[in-house]
Amino acid sequence: MHDEVAAYVLGVLDDDEHEAFERHLDGCERCQAELMELAGVPERLDELKQDPSASEDDPPMSMSR
Ligand SMILES: [Zn+2]
Repeated sequence: MHDEVAAYVLGVLDDDEHEAFERHLDGCERCQAELMELAGVPERLDELKQDPSASEDDPPMSMSR
């Protein structure tokens, strides 16, 4: 059951499994913690993607007069 956190996050569980896992999650701190961790991954990836160098805007070509 503990192994299904990833599948739950990815949304690949059957309706039955989904329901069963949510019921399990309700009383399982371990899975709740893991769920938080997994759920935070996309956010963290997004932060990593924000490359500081990307914010450096080059002036448009029309400036060269
Ligand atoms: Zn669990």
